[in-house]
Amino acid sequence: MTGTPAGNTPGNTPENTTAHPGHRVLDGTARARDLRAGVQAEAAALTLLGVPPTLAVVVATDDEGAGWYVRSVSGAARRLGVACEVVDLGASAAPELIEATLARLSSDDRVHGILLQTPLPDGARVEQLAASIVPEKDVDGANPLSAGRLAAGLPAYPPATAAAVLDLLDHHGVEPAGRTAVVVGRSPAVGRPTAQLLLQRDATVQICHRHTKDLAAHTRTADILVVAVGRAGLIRAEHVADGAVVVDVGTNTASDGSLVGDVDAADVARRPGALTPVPGGVGPVTTALLLTHTVRSARAQV
Ligand code: NAD
Repeated sequence: MTGTPAGNTPGNTPENTTAHPGHRVLDGTARARDLRAGVQAEAAALTLLGVPPTLAVVVATDDEGAGWYVRSVSGAARRLGVACEVVDLGASAAPELIEATLARLSSDDRVHGILLQTPLPDGARVEQLAASIVPEKDVDGANPLSAGRLAAGLPAYPPATAAAVLDLLDHHGVEPAGRTAVVVGRSPAVGRPTAQLLLQRDATVQICHRHTKDLAAHTRTADILVVAVGRAGLIRAEHVADGAVVVDVGTNTASDGSLVGDVDAADVARRPGALTPVPGGVGPVTTALLLTHTVRSARAQV
């Protein structure tokens, strides 16, 4: 399924484009609602059994975006009957304190899931510190052991965002097996694990990153294109083949303060194919899956 590259002609701005009749928007909100309903039912059942599911979130930053995400996760958790304990260590927390906190939560029987929020203070590396989260409670797949197990095709919690990409594809009936998938971004939290999950599902996978030359030449080969970079407008119509399914993981703040992805949605909508929206695509499914992993971890302890 390769497409004809569109020319990057001046004037290809969202304002003067109209959506192609064969373009679909792959919404994530309905799927997130279903997942949240499942979490709520399971949380109620576990609480009746005397095991109230509990997520601990360790924060060592005053980053605004991180604060917003933590409030959104803890709010969703509480609404669904999952206890959420936010442990705020302050933006200048020493790596040793973060490590000791993760180790304490790992051995606390009341806690079933642990999330280490990023960014971390200078000098602290998530790959090192997350090794202190026991894999059974590593509901966001941050421990390198979880990443290794994922790469080896063994059971592990994948990072919730990577799991959300696959979940959304499944929800909309997009089968990865035998398709060409291109993932733009190679971070341990998003790009790499997404590529691993696509590989596990028998896609032929290519990973692009900041050193990739001629990005469009690669992305245009994709039947499934996942973009996780953090640069608004990086992907335009000329990067996308006709008929491709594009999953936009990026979250960026536009100049007017609105949330936008990495994909120029109006421009890409000129092509036949499909695109997940921002907001309302990967984001709500990610939060719902983080809580799904937490109740699964609690169930394993019943
Ligand atoms: P990151 O900064 O750790 O990684 C960015 C990746 O993009 C790197 O691998 C880098 O090599 C690559 N990159 C940078 N410039 C590029 C370019 N010009 N061309 C190709 N590749 C390039 O970021 P991250 O943590 O992986 O997050 C990526 C985006 O996803 C961010 O916008 C983040 O906010 C968003 N995000 C969304 C969710 C969600 O639930 N929707 C969850 C996590 C992250």
